[in-house]
Amino acid sequence: MEFAALAERAEGVAANDGDIETTLAVAELLADAGAAGGVEGDGPTDDLPVVVRFLLGRVFPAHDTRTLDVGPARCREAIARAAGPNVSAADVEDRLAERGEIGAVAAAYDFGGQRGLAAFGSGRDALTAAAVDEALRGLAAESGDGSESRKEDALFGLFTRCSPSEAAFLARLVLGEMRLGVGEGTVRDAIAEAFLASPGGSEAESDAEDEPELRASAEAVAAVERALQVTNDYGRVAVRARDEGTAGLRGESLRVGRPVQAMLAQAGTAVDAVDSFGEVAVETKFDGARVQVHYAPADAGPGRTEGLGPRLYSRNMDDVTGALPEIVEYVADRVDVPIILDGEVVAVDDDGDPLPFQEVLRRFRRKHDVDRMRDAVSLRFHAFDCLHADGDDLLDRPLRDRHDRLRAVLSDAAADLTLADDPEAVAAEERAALDAGHEGVMLKNPEAAYTPGDRGRDWLKRKPDVETLDAVVVGAEWGEGRRAELFGTFLLAVRADDTDPDGDDPAPAGYATVGKVATGITDEALADLTERLEPQVVDEAGTTVAFDPELVVEVGYEEIQTSPTYSAGYALRFPRFVGVREDKGVDDADSLARVRRLAGEE
Ligand code: AMP
Repeated sequence: MEFAALAERAEGVAANDGDIETTLAVAELLADAGAAGGVEGDGPTDDLPVVVRFLLGRVFPAHDTRTLDVGPARCREAIARAAGPNVSAADVEDRLAERGEIGAVAAAYDFGGQRGLAAFGSGRDALTAAAVDEALRGLAAESGDGSESRKEDALFGLFTRCSPSEAAFLARLVLGEMRLGVGEGTVRDAIAEAFLASPGGSEAESDAEDEPELRASAEAVAAVERALQVTNDYGRVAVRARDEGTAGLRGESLRVGRPVQAMLAQAGTAVDAVDSFGEVAVETKFDGARVQVHYAPADAGPGRTEGLGPRLYSRNMDDVTGALPEIVEYVADRVDVPIILDGEVVAVDDDGDPLPFQEVLRRFRRKHDVDRMRDAVSLRFHAFDCLHADGDDLLDRPLRDRHDRLRAVLSDAAADLTLADDPEAVAAEERAALDAGHEGVMLKNPEAAYTPGDRGRDWLKRKPDVETLDAVVVGAEWGEGRRAELFGTFLLAVRADDTDPDGDDPAPAGYATVGKVATGITDEALADLTERLEPQVVDEAGTTVAFDPELVVEVGYEEIQTSPTYSAGYALRFPRFVGVREDKGVDDADSLARVRRLAGEE
C-alpha cells in the first residue's frame, strides 16, 4: 500500500466521529491493505501488519522491546534539512510552538521539489508503507558511534520523499504522537470486521437502512481479543485473521520470550470479595515492582535444546533483565522447565524484611552501575502466578491450579495463597501481612482465569478503611475460657442528642449503640482495656456489663448498614479495634449524624 494512501486515509479516519463509523473506516483500510501485498526489493511484502501497527502509532509490536529512540530535537533537525537550506531547526521549533503539534508543522513545509529530485535521481517509486517500515526498523537498529547522525540522515531521506500528509504521518509516527483517535479496541473490532464478518451479516436483519452497523459476531471479536492477549501483536493477529480466520486465531498461544500484558486489580473490600467469590484467595500484596519472568532452559527436553536465558519484563513490557542479575541467577538456578511467571520484585534489608517501594526503583531500570547497586540494595522475587509451564499454557486454568504449578516450578519464590471465606479471616491475613512489613493483601477469585491487560473484578486490592469511627465504650461482655478474666467484646456507641432510648437499650442517655467490637485487640490491649474499664461498671447482668461513658476508641469497619439491632438504627459491619483515643473525651466522640453520613444517608 502506498504510504501516501495510508496517510490520507488515516486523516479521513481521524475525521470520523462516531465509533461505528471509525471502526468501519479502519476495517475498510485494513481490508485494502490486506489485499495490497506486493513485491518489493528482496521479495514479497505484506502491508497489513505494518498498516495495523502504524495506525496504532507503533513500528514494533507492544511485546517487542526495540524502540526508534529518536528525540524531538533530532526529528526537528531532519525536518529542517528536508525543508531546504533556508529552514533551520529553530524555525521548525518556532512553528511547533505556534501549531502545538509536529504533524501539522511537518505538513506545512514543502518537501515536494526535493521529493521530485530524489525520486528522479534514485529512480525510486513512491514510498510504500512497507518501505517506510523497513527504513524505520533500520534506523532503530543503529547503535554506537555516529548512530545519532545516521538516524537523522535516514529520517531526512524519508522526509525528502514525503508529500504533506505523508510528512505529517511520518513525524507523528516517529515521535509516538499518532493521535488518530483510533484506539486498540477500535483496531480489534476492525480486524474482526475486515476479515471475520460473514457477508451480509446482521445488516440483513437491520430495519434502519442507512444506520451503519458492525457485522462481525461477538465470537469473532472475542477470538481477536484472545489472540491479542496471548501475542500482544496487532499486526500478527490481523494477518492470522485474514489468512486463517477464527480457527487460526484460536491456534495462537503464548511464547516464552514474548511478554504479555499484566493482569490488573480493582480496589475492593473483604466483604466485596466474600460476596462475589465465596471463597477468597488471599495473598500478600508486595510493595515492589511487577516483573514477568520468561525462561526456557537450554536442556529442557527434546526439541527444546536452544533455550532462552531468563528474561525479565516490567509491567509496561520493557526488558529489565540487565538491571536485575540476581533474579536472573535465582531463576536459572532453580527452574528446569520452560516457564512464564508473574510476580513482584521487592527490596529487602539485611534481615530479609521488605523495604519501601522507592528502594526497588533504585535498581529497576538501571543500565549503569548495576553491580555497585546490587551490593547497595538487595532484592527478593515473589512469584504469584504461573502463565505457562513446560509447554502448557495456563491462562484459562483457575488461579488455584496455576498456583499449584507455580509451587511445582519455583516453590521458594511462590507467594502463599490462603483460602478464606469470611472477612474476619481476611482481616487476620491482612494484619499478618502488614506486621511483616508488606503493603496489605490482594483478594483474588480462586476460580478465575488469567486475563492479560484486564482490570476486572477477579483481582481486588484490598481498600483500606477510608474512615474510622471514634466511638464510646458503653458496655462489654466477659471473655471465655483462657480469657474469662478479661472483657472480650465491647459495646460501642456514638453521641446522639435526639435519640429516645427505649427500655432495652443499654446505651446511657445521649448515646446510641452502633455495634460490638471483638476483633483486632491484642492480649495486651485487652488487659489494658479491662483494667481501665472495670472501675466504670455501673450495671452487671450475667456476663454483660454496662459502663459510664468515658473511654473513646477508634474502630475500623467494612461498611455501615441500617440495622434494627442497635439503637442508632445502624450497625458497623465487621468492626475492628484500632486503638484507644487517649486524646479524646466523650464529647469529642463521633455523633449519630456522622454515622448517617458515613452510611451515605445524608
Ligand atoms: P496497584 O499498583 O496499587 O494498582 O496494585 C496492583 C499491583 O500490586 C500489581 O500490579 C502488582 O505490581 C502489585 N502486587 C503486589 N502483590 C501482588 C499479588 N500478590 N498479586 C497481584 N499483584 C500484586
